[in-house]
Amino acid sequence: MARTRIFSGVKPTGHLTLGNYLGALRRWAEVDQHRADALFCVVDLHALTVAHDPARVRRLTRQAATLLLAMGLDPERCTVFVQSHVDEHARLSYLMECTASDGEMRRMIQYKEKKAQGGAEVRLSLLTYPALMAADILAYGTDEVPVGEDQAQHVELTRDLAVRFNQRYGPVFVVPRATRPPVAARVKDLQEPTAKMGKSHARTAGIVYLLDEAETVRKKVARAVTDAHPEVVYDPAERPGVANLLEILAACTGGEPGELAGAYGSYGALKKDVAEAVVEMLRPVRERHAELAADPGYVDGVLRDGAERARAVARPRVDAAYRAVGL
Ligand code: ADP
Repeated sequence: MARTRIFSGVKPTGHLTLGNYLGALRRWAEVDQHRADALFCVVDLHALTVAHDPARVRRLTRQAATLLLAMGLDPERCTVFVQSHVDEHARLSYLMECTASDGEMRRMIQYKEKKAQGGAEVRLSLLTYPALMAADILAYGTDEVPVGEDQAQHVELTRDLAVRFNQRYGPVFVVPRATRPPVAARVKDLQEPTAKMGKSHARTAGIVYLLDEAETVRKKVARAVTDAHPEVVYDPAERPGVANLLEILAACTGGEPGELAGAYGSYGALKKDVAEAVVEMLRPVRERHAELAADPGYVDGVLRDGAERARAVARPRVDAAYRAVGL
């Protein structure tokens, strides 16, 4: 039997966060690359769906790729590359737009949320974003897509598009499924604990970035919003701030949020442990990032190699899709 194929990506629209790491990236390095034929991608085309500065996108793409290597993705084990280096993504995206309906695109929660913020300036590509994401996944015959909870709806749409395409034109695509971590699949903003910790938010006080200095992490965690209850209890619906801290701690230490709650008599003690757990978890990533950033030739080589390998996997399937639709 063929090895399980895994594909996932990260968008260079801001500095990567603790949410990205706990919701997806950490498992790519610790689990996924060891058990499957895995491809991981910095999806820079997706960064153009919102107002962007070219130099910043280029810098963030580079930083994200370097961070993926710093957190332990091993180019000998898996394929690490940049989306725009492989033309098959854009080629297949068009066929996905021809498979999806206008209505199903407009129902996507992320589109509705971002459109509400962006008004008339919203780019058309924000609406068609899930078609490109479906292309990213389907081009590789992907079985599993390890993502945070916020991407579940997009992967569901990808499945629908794969099934529909196969029914109309013949069996070209594998129907993939999403996988997510057991805890912290949706890390919340420390200042606004009902909203996701998102890398492109304007207010940064509640966002822990992977490259934050230890002192900055400690400050952000110390100022996290909690509530006025005297005890530490795990109750995500009623007490989202504390629940978020407990989930972050559980994800860092391997415990259960409900059980961890019982060990704390005060929010101060909990925050202190959360901060230290996060600082210790991120320390080796930051150190390795600094080393790799000082060796741009190595990173270039990895990305060039990765793009070549990715292209070789994607091209036959995308060619088959073009033939299947009559081109
Ligand atoms: P962002 O929302 O930060 O722009 P991306 O679209 O680049 O995230 O997603 C990269 C991965 O990180 C995805 O698998 C996504 O589900 C995951 N992710 C993003 N934010 C969070 C979060 N707050 N909690 C858990 N996972 C997250």
